[in-house]
Amino acid sequence: MMNRKWQYTALSATILLLTGCGQTNQAVSSVHTPAVAASAAHSADTAATVPHWSYDQEHGPTHWAELETAFSTCRTGQQQSPIDIEHAQLVPSATVHPVDIHYGTTPVTVINNGHTVQVNVQNTDNYITIEGQKYTLVQFHFHHPSEHQIDGKNAAMELHLVHKSADGQSAVLGVLIQPGNANRAFRQLWEHLPDHESEQAIPLTEPVQLSHLLPADHHAVHYTGSLTTPPCTEHVSWTVLQQPIQLSKDQIQRFATIFPDNHRPVQSIGSRKLYTEQ
Ligand SMILES: [Zn+2]
Repeated sequence: MMNRKWQYTALSATILLLTGCGQTNQAVSSVHTPAVAASAAHSADTAATVPHWSYDQEHGPTHWAELETAFSTCRTGQQQSPIDIEHAQLVPSATVHPVDIHYGTTPVTVINNGHTVQVNVQNTDNYITIEGQKYTLVQFHFHHPSEHQIDGKNAAMELHLVHKSADGQSAVLGVLIQPGNANRAFRQLWEHLPDHESEQAIPLTEPVQLSHLLPADHHAVHYTGSLTTPPCTEHVSWTVLQQPIQLSKDQIQRFATIFPDNHRPVQSIGSRKLYTEQ
């Protein structure tokens, strides 16, 4: 897994673009029908020579913008994610409200898309509200080590819950993961972590109780950023919970075996503010 080469056909490159951070599971399932897959292959002919992005040296984060013009924001963007969250820079604000989390139970499918293990949420009942705007949970996935830093330090892992509003805006809820007690909420999912990249998402037999994935305290740091994977699209509303969750060292190691390093380094915060609730 360490020395994997990112040599894909045009079709699989297209599928992986559709399954990256922040994309919808509808896009994932649509490419599984032969007719759509065939047309995707046809329309992707011109992209056949475009190298695919990864976390390795050659096609890794410092080269993403060079790989495809559509990825140029990865270099030119001024509001990129992840960032280092420094406690000294937090701005308590009376006008920033806590994120309102409405998570229930959902059937899921799981896929190793070559960049992460992504869990596609199969119903639209789960949402968060940020400053009056509703965002529906689409998928969640993991990074090892964490992408956000706290005072210059990475956590062991990070969970990203990716939401979309009705008008297509993205909001990501980030949860840092530290080594500690074994986490039962992740047990079923961890038993079915796909070791190898696939184009087919696997349904889990048991539904996932989403609220059990989160810490008890939902106080958070709020800032405006981007997707942390190409095309690094901006105007993403980020909510990084301040309380981490725990996985056991064995659970973390299980993921690390599949993805030894799938994190983008921190980006310049620029003139952005890091808001917290008062
Ligand atoms: Zn992510």
